[in-house]
Amino acid sequence: MSYTSPATLVQAARLINDDEGAIYIAGGTDLMVRRSLGIDKTTHLIDLSAISALRGITLNSETLSIGATTTLAELASSSAVRSHFPALAEAALSIASPPIRNSATVAGNLLCENRCIYYDQSEAWQAAAGGCLKCGSEICIATGSTKSCYSVFISDLAPVLIVLSAQVEVLEHDDFAEDEASPTSVLSPRITSKPVEWLYTGDGLDPHTISKRDIVTRILIRTLDPTEHPIFFKKLRPRASVDFTNLTVAMCRMRDGTFTLAASGIGPGPAVLRNAESDDAEVLAASLLKQTMIIDNVSYRRAYRKDMLRETIAEGLHFLAQKPL
Ligand SMILES: Cc1cc2nc3c(=O)[nH]c(=O)nc-3n(C[C@H](O)[C@H](O)[C@H](O)COP(=O)(O)OP(=O)(O)OC[C@H]3O[C@@H](n4cnc5c(N)ncnc54)[C@H](O)[C@@H]3O)c2cc1C
Repeated sequence: MSYTSPATLVQAARLINDDEGAIYIAGGTDLMVRRSLGIDKTTHLIDLSAISALRGITLNSETLSIGATTTLAELASSSAVRSHFPALAEAALSIASPPIRNSATVAGNLLCENRCIYYDQSEAWQAAAGGCLKCGSEICIATGSTKSCYSVFISDLAPVLIVLSAQVEVLEHDDFAEDEASPTSVLSPRITSKPVEWLYTGDGLDPHTISKRDIVTRILIRTLDPTEHPIFFKKLRPRASVDFTNLTVAMCRMRDGTFTLAASGIGPGPAVLRNAESDDAEVLAASLLKQTMIIDNVSYRRAYRKDMLRETIAEGLHFLAQKPL
């Protein structure tokens, strides 16, 4: 196994171009666990953490910019984030434990692998159980399906960023390839900006739209006063100290009345309702569930998570109704 630590985006993109077995690593809190289980078998780790262009949080009158390798601890303690987007700081602070938040990064959280009690197991366990679909076997242990994987999307930052209509900037591998003739040219004009939900396919087998060779460079959020966009954030899990989410809901009502709801923990990708018109929790929960499929593959049972989705949305509607705009 080899390890390299490029200082620039150009060096990183060139390293990954040259090695089929390479993968980017940031904090390593997701990737190294998968490697220790034998799920990830890449042979070359390209560490993005020394690239200064990927670091830091800056705020101006129009945009909050969050560098991809900003850690969750830095995000949670940033005065710019806490004053303008308190729900984002709350979401960051809800993730894992302090030592993990000191390493785990924002882009790593958006791109961490889906989870399932049958997938996040050692090679020995997989061999004894006959393997799961996401690990290359023919049948999903959770559902018996030969086609679909419902491993769970667990990012807690994503629902908040989605309701804030945040954009993600991505340096796409193909863009870099065109630049090879001119290695000193500036890459930033080639960086594309897309809504955060664009990152997700909704397919548990291959949950991300970006290739392993693309680099997320930063997240951009339009600067708003928090009173203009109250956000409700709530997360359900057995132990608040360190467990992964079993259901995360973010809801936001903008001053113009637009209402957006996003959830993780209930299927292979984020479930999103934009410009939702109903204020009935039952209707909103049913609309979200039409986009996804909750199965028994995390700590809490399917029926309980469905009930809690409706209850959490009802709590969110009540919370938002108390906030004057
Ligand atoms: C015990 C534990 C509890 C957790 N609980 C929660 C929780 O409750 N909620 C939650 O949301 N998360 C939770 N997590 C997941 C955690 O948020 C992620 O592990 C972390 O954010 C990943 O960030 P990282 O920098 O360590 O990513 P890495 O492990 O370094 O990378 C993860 C993936 O992202 C890719 N990647 C990273 N950065 C980039 C980039 N800039 N461009 C392109 N690709 C990139 C890597 O190639 C890799 O595939 C938990 C993790 C642990 C270990």
